[in-house]
Amino acid sequence: MIRMSAVDKFFGSLHVLRSIDLEVPKGQVVVVLGPSGSGKSTLCRAINRLEPINDGSIEIDGVPLPAEGRALAELRADVGMVFQQFNLFAHKTILENVTLGPIKVRGQSKDEAQRDAMTLLERVGITDQAQKYPAALSGGQQQRAAIARALAMKPKVMLFDEPTSALDPEMVNEVLDVMTGLAEEGMTMVVVTHEMGFARRAAHRVLFMADGEVVEDAEPQKFFGEPKSDRAKDFLGKIL
Ligand code: ADP
Ligand code: MG
Repeated sequence: MIRMSAVDKFFGSLHVLRSIDLEVPKGQVVVVLGPSGSGKSTLCRAINRLEPINDGSIEIDGVPLPAEGRALAELRADVGMVFQQFNLFAHKTILENVTLGPIKVRGQSKDEAQRDAMTLLERVGITDQAQKYPAALSGGQQQRAAIARALAMKPKVMLFDEPTSALDPEMVNEVLDVMTGLAEEGMTMVVVTHEMGFARRAAHRVLFMADGEVVEDAEPQKFFGEPKSDRAKDFLGKIL
């Protein structure tokens, strides 16, 4: 579903992604771990071309990522992204937030988009918030709305970049539960998170990044049980 080949990314002279090769099959849940600044966000942003890359190639479901234009907008719609900061449109209701993309990019009718949106809001447990503006919702509710908005585009892949890092602790689980449900339904997911419980429970595979490289790539049990590199051991020592 995702294929990255020899992807390089620089910010000026800073080499942020170093020849990344990564294949994620359909239905796989990949958790990305690594110290701050190791390139995790840049990896996610490269996958839907929020960040252009300097070298290499990225394919989604066999289609090379186009550089720009309508083709890029369509392919990007296949890749849902959820950020640490919920990034909802502040001046639109939750329902409008969820229906906007399907109407504009997918060409759905308003009625159909609203029907689908209500089903999604039910799935993430916030139908009662549909007519409110984002600021009236808790952080956990806003993040669940952001997930519903991404799902409304019927994406093939979902990217999550530290989706619970900005939440108060009591709201973390309501978001992780939605993500776990998606994983169980077979969504292809790349999840940057520090929630090790989620990684152990939901991930098929853990990538550990350091300095722009994928240093380890293993099943969660293996990674947590017997990390190979000193960098991963050091990282786990600090967070566990
Ligand atoms: P992580 O998500 O693992 O913390 P990032 O992908 O955000 O790491 O960042 C990787 C490196 O790239 C860091 O050194 C960061 O400072 C740098 N970086 C990220 N975004 C930019 C940018 N827009 N301009 C310049 N440097 C950036
Ligand atoms: Mg980051």
